[in-house]
Parts: sequence; C-alpha cells; structure tokens
Amino acid sequence: MSDEADVIVVGAGLAGLVATAELADAGRRVILVEQEPEPWLGGQAYWSFGGLFLVNSAEQRRLGVRDSHELALKDWMATAGFDRPEDGWPRKWAEAYVAFAAGEKRAWLHQQGIRFFPIVGWAERSGYGPSGPGNSVPRFHITWGTGPGVVAPFQRRVQEAAANGVVTLKFRHRVDGLTRTRGVVDGARGAILQPGATPRGMPSSRDQIGEFELRAQAVIVTAGGIGGNHEMVRASWPARLGAAPHRMLSGVPAHVDGRMLGIVEAAGGTVINRDRMWHYVEGIQNWNPIWPNHGIRILPGPSSIWLDAMGRRLPAPLFPGFDTLGTLQHIVWTGFDYSWFVLDQRIIRREFALSGSEQNPDLTNKNIRLLLQRVVSRSGPAPVEAFKRRGADFVVASTLDDLVRRMNALTGEARIDLARLESEITARDREVDNPSTGDQQTLAIRAARRYLGDRLIRVARPHHLLDRSAGPLIAVRLRILTRKTLGGLQTDLSGRVLGADGSPVPGLYAAGEVAGFGGGGMHGYRSLEGTFLGGCLFSGRTAGRAVAAALS
Ligand SMILES: Cc1cc2nc3c(=O)[nH]c(=O)nc-3n(C[C@H](O)[C@H](O)[C@H](O)COP(=O)(O)OP(=O)(O)OC[C@H]3O[C@@H](n4cnc5c(N)ncnc54)[C@H](O)[C@@H]3O)c2cc1C
Repeated sequence: MSDEADVIVVGAGLAGLVATAELADAGRRVILVEQEPEPWLGGQAYWSFGGLFLVNSAEQRRLGVRDSHELALKDWMATAGFDRPEDGWPRKWAEAYVAFAAGEKRAWLHQQGIRFFPIVGWAERSGYGPSGPGNSVPRFHITWGTGPGVVAPFQRRVQEAAANGVVTLKFRHRVDGLTRTRGVVDGARGAILQPGATPRGMPSSRDQIGEFELRAQAVIVTAGGIGGNHEMVRASWPARLGAAPHRMLSGVPAHVDGRMLGIVEAAGGTVINRDRMWHYVEGIQNWNPIWPNHGIRILPGPSSIWLDAMGRRLPAPLFPGFDTLGTLQHIVWTGFDYSWFVLDQRIIRREFALSGSEQNPDLTNKNIRLLLQRVVSRSGPAPVEAFKRRGADFVVASTLDDLVRRMNALTGEARIDLARLESEITARDREVDNPSTGDQQTLAIRAARRYLGDRLIRVARPHHLLDRSAGPLIAVRLRILTRKTLGGLQTDLSGRVLGADGSPVPGLYAAGEVAGFGGGGMHGYRSLEGTFLGGCLFSGRTAGRAVAAALS
C-alpha cells in the first residue's frame, strides 16, 4: 500500500492527525501526506499554548465558576455575530461545537490521557454587558504539557497505526493538485521535496526531487490557514478594520501559507468568509526567533495602562485581555501599527503570560518546581524576564521621565509626552484608592480579583504605578501579530466540502483551520479563545468518522 489507500489526508497538523487516527481506528487505510519533515508532526499545535475552551468543566466548578451550555451558546453567538447568507453552515458548526465543548469533549480528551492545569483562565472578557460579545465566565483551560500535550495522544495513535501498516506517512510530499474522475475527487498529486534536517518551524527547502500521484476513495484536506502568508492576509484584510498595517509580525510558522485553498477551489470547493481573521494586538518581536519575523503574543492580565502610539489611553472597555478585535480595529484606525503597555515589575511578574509551548517550559515539561516559581518569585517567569532584558520592544526605567525618553528613542519619534502620561498615571493611581471609583479599568480589575483563579495567579493587587517599591517601570511596544484564519472551505456537518451550488463535491472533505474550523467559519467574526485547537479536534474527528462511515 504505497500509492493507493481508502483515504488521503493532506496535512499532518492537529486536524490531520485526529482525522487519521479516527479513520485508522475504523480500519480504513490512510495515506497522510505532509510537506514538512517527520519531526514536525503536529503543525502549529505543537507550538501552541494548549488553551482549550471547555464549558462547565470540573476545573471551573472547583473554582466556583458557574457555567452552562446555554450561557456558552449565548456568548458564542453574541461573539460570532453571524450576519451573512453564507453563515448557515458556520452557525450549525458553532452550535455543534459548543455542544461538544459542554458535553463529551473533556471526557474524550481525559480518556486519551490529556489533563488540565487546575486554574482556568479568563480570555476575551469583553465588557460590553450581558448581551455583548465575550466570555461571561472563565473558560480557557491550559493543557498540562501545553500544545505538545494536546498533540501527543493523536500522534501516538497515528504512529501505532503506521507501525501496523494501516497508515502510510509521506513526509516532504507537497500536494499541488487534487485529481477527479467523473466528478469525484479520488487522488492527489504533487512534488517530492528535498529531504533535510531543517529545525522545526524554520522555512524548509522547496527544491523538488521528484513527483508523486496518489489515489483513494476520498481526500480530507487539513492544510491549515493563511497567517504566515502576509500577502494573502493583506489581500483579505477587511475594510471594516481600516487599512492593513504596514508592519506585522508572524505568529505562525511559514508553512501556514494558505496555498491549499486555491488548490481545493480548483477542484470545485468554495471558500467563504475570507475577510474574517483573528490577529493579535499584543505582539512582541521574538529576540530568539524560530521562524522568520517571529512574534510572540502576550496574554495579558488587566492592569497595564494601554496607550496608542501618540500616548492616548485606549477607551473603555479596551483593556488588556478584553476585546481582541475591537482593540485591533481601534489601533488600526489610529493610523499606526503599534501601541504601548505601561506597567511595572509587580504587574509584569503576575500578569504577563507568553503564548507558545516553548515560552512556557514549566507547563510544557510538566515541571512543578519551575511552575511554583511563578507564584513565589519576585521576578516573572524566566521567558518573560528574558524578553524584558533582551526583547527589542521592551523599555525599563526607574523613573517616568527616563521611561518616556526611552520610549521615544525606541520609535525615533517624540510622540509620548511626559506631562500627559504623568497626569494619566497620577489620575489612575488616585482611583486605585477610591472605593467608589467610576474608572472602568479599576472596576474591571476589582471584578477580576473576585474570581479566585485571577486573584491567585493572574491579576496583581491594585497599587500605585508610581510607587517605587513596585518598580521598575516598564513600557512594551505592542505590534500586530498575524495568527488565525476564521473563514475557509465551506463544509457541511460531515466535513464534506461544498461547491458553488451548495452541494458536496463528491469525495472531498476538509477540517481544521483550512475549513474555518468547520463550515467555513464557525467563529463568525470573533473567537472566545481556546477554540482553535478544539475546533481541530472536533472537525478532524467529525470528518474522519464521516469518511469512515461513507466508504464502501
Ligand atoms: C504560537 C501559537 C499558539 C497557539 N495557541 C493556541 C491556543 O492556546 N489555543 C488554541 O485553541 N489555538 C492556539 N493556536 C492555534 C492552533 O494551534 C491552530 O489553529 C491549529 O493548530 C491549526 O491546526 P491545523 O491542523 O488546522 O493546521 P496546521 O497546524 O497549520 O497544519 C497543517 C499542516 O498541513 C501541511 N500542509 C499545508 N499545505 C500542504 C500541502 N500542499 N501539501 C502537504 N502538506 C501541507 C502543513 O505543513 C502543516 O503541517 C496557537 C497557534 C500558535 C502558532
């Protein structure tokens, strides 16, 4: 079985691994085709923080969080804002996914050995009231072992199936076209790429050493999104967000190139919601890059002051960690491609988490001793401290005038005015002491600290920024970082790719980010976070099971 199987799966990221594992369990013979080398199995998920959206979990209940399927579905729909005729399948996928997250998801993952850090994070807090977008309660569950911990059980299942001869793994095979016979997609062809030991995540050679052609009864495409292809991101950038920023960092490796979208379209598939994307505003240039233009996202707690490039405080409720896309829109409309956090040592130590498995060695390596240092040490986690010392976007100073001087030196423009920033900080510090404050950010910090998880490890005790004992002062220039693709191949609830007339293209399926995580955009315009890995798990499992059942 080398060039023929029951099913071809294109892409060995999380969605591809899950689909393959499900097919193999059902006794179907699979060829898993991947353009990168074998050690890269897992795609983006390997690099991920491993945050998963779960609803009414044991971890939430232990922390006193009251969540329900109904509340999560309300939050999801308010956040997605589905408003297009083509949102029919995305909406159905959203309903199915929220039911999965509130139902069997945790037990299914648990059964495969996945465990969670006991403190549940609160992403996308939003602050637009009970009917607005955002998470009403904390739902971001960090996998013990981060991204590699999510990938491991599926990788293991696939490798076992390969050892048993049910799955054939073809690395350095890049699909360039899908073949059809009498309208049915029944194969893939492409180039065999030069083998080599490129370190994971770096751009690998595109030199070709041969060609291949494979045949099967069905093809599942799980080739990821477009975030590493800035040209494509710019071409799809929606007018509602203003003009695409001049400079952006890459939050994903170069293989996230969107190339398979055009290949699937040529085979009859339809791409919808291209203009829906999920990029971050808290990007910092990696001082130790893995891929070109590598940016890391800060997952911030709520206490830093957020300023635009001119030093103006962002309006409520655009506080750190509240509304990713609303903040992106605001920043882009300022005409600049960066903004600033101003904070101090006490805040950075408690409130800065960096997204990425390699930025969290304690969680990734399941090292409890290292993890405890997050709680007891006066400095932040070692990777955060390394950025503070070496990161190009960090400025540290013991006085405010020195801080402002260095901020302006970093951008080469005198855009931050000392007197104005001082008055902003003094006003903020005054509100910290005011029990009946109307300052929305102070109120939001107090509200966050009523949640045990935030009070324990995530939100610093309110204090004066100009209190020297909390120093030094820190400013971080935040850049825009490309990451997730919310639109994609339109699929029905079995993962079948739909053609222009809305009917399935026979033999063709898709899952994961390339399918907008299901339906061509189950997130709508925005995400509640932790929903991407889960989207790969759910849509990969759905497509794998559906194909296994559909084959003769
Ligand atoms: C740093 C980081 C942190 C993240 N943190 C989180 C988080 O905490 N929670 C969360 O939910 N999500 C997170 N994400 C997002 C999540 O990891 C991705 O959305 C998800 O892993 C995408 O998986 P995928 O299988 O759809 O695609 P990918 O992982 O992109 O895999 C696609 C695979 O297809 C291969 N491929 C592409 N084209 C071809 C071709 N023509 N021929 C052969 N092979 C091809 C690629 O080489 C790749 O291996 C994070 C992402 C990153 C980068």
